[in-house]
Amino acid sequence: MAEDDKKRVTVTIQGEVLEWIDQKIGERVFHNYQHAVDYCLMKVYQEEYTRFTHYNVYDDHATIYDNLKKRIVDVYFREGPYCEACEKPDCDHVRFALSLPKVVEPLRAKGWVIMDGRVVSKPT
Ligand SMILES: [Zn+2]
Repeated sequence: MAEDDKKRVTVTIQGEVLEWIDQKIGERVFHNYQHAVDYCLMKVYQEEYTRFTHYNVYDDHATIYDNLKKRIVDVYFREGPYCEACEKPDCDHVRFALSLPKVVEPLRAKGWVIMDGRVVSKPT
């Protein structure tokens, strides 16, 4: 593939963020703007990706560990999804639990319809 055929996008960085990057380039933390952007995106991705760990799946709930809040969170699947930490039917914990095949497959077998980490419908 020729260099010109590669997909690329142009992003504008300005204001305080640009001042911060310029300062870090001056301190030789980053080699250049591309390095700064690549590094920051990778850090955010890693943080998000490793936020939830150590999960267990039970009959009516999943237990997950939230590394950001440093606590164990139970997400229940009874009348509908419910997070005991957030006291809500939809949050990051519910969406993470609903991304786990071990959680989703038994619910689907019971007639729940789950798409993109959300319950679309469930048996009445
Ligand atoms: Zn929650």
